Amino acid sequence: MAKIDLIQVKGNIQYDDIKKMIVDPYYSRGKTYCKDGLVFFVTISRDVSLGIGIKAKVFGGRLYKVELSYNKGFFGGTCSCPAFSDFGPCKHLAGTWFAYVDYSNNLYSSSEECLDAVERYKKRISRLSRKSKAELIEMLSGKGFDEDDIGEYE
Ligand SMILES: [Zn+2]
Repeated sequence: MAKIDLIQVKGNIQYDDIKKMIVDPYYSRGKTYCKDGLVFFVTISRDVSLGIGIKAKVFGGRLYKVELSYNKGFFGGTCSCPAFSDFGPCKHLAGTWFAYVDYSNNLYSSSEECLDAVERYKKRISRLSRKSKAELIEMLSGKGFDEDDIGEYE
């Protein structure tokens, strides 16, 4: 899996720092993801020695899992989307950084569309967790298997 190159910044994370690690068109698309409220923060942790750790879901037709880190001026991150494993830093990563910058300034909130997707995801996980192993195998190997029944890029 690809990793983003570590870059160093000083002080608080700004939009310009995102540009250093994520190129266009992903940078611009990420900005749109943020503006449209498609990022949902699962956890944000800030620690003096560990730095910033972010877990988020990003809704782009499917729900993608994004994890970001920032410590002592260095960025790290992964995304569960296919583009990230093939090409590296993607629009979901960019969108999450933008949302984090806005969130830090009390300027970010997730859209209804995004919150609905997260709610559907939680219900799906809950439904699947009640199935037996045999039922899950049948679902996965059965005729007419619909990927949406199983879930998203988690
Ligand atoms: Zn991605």
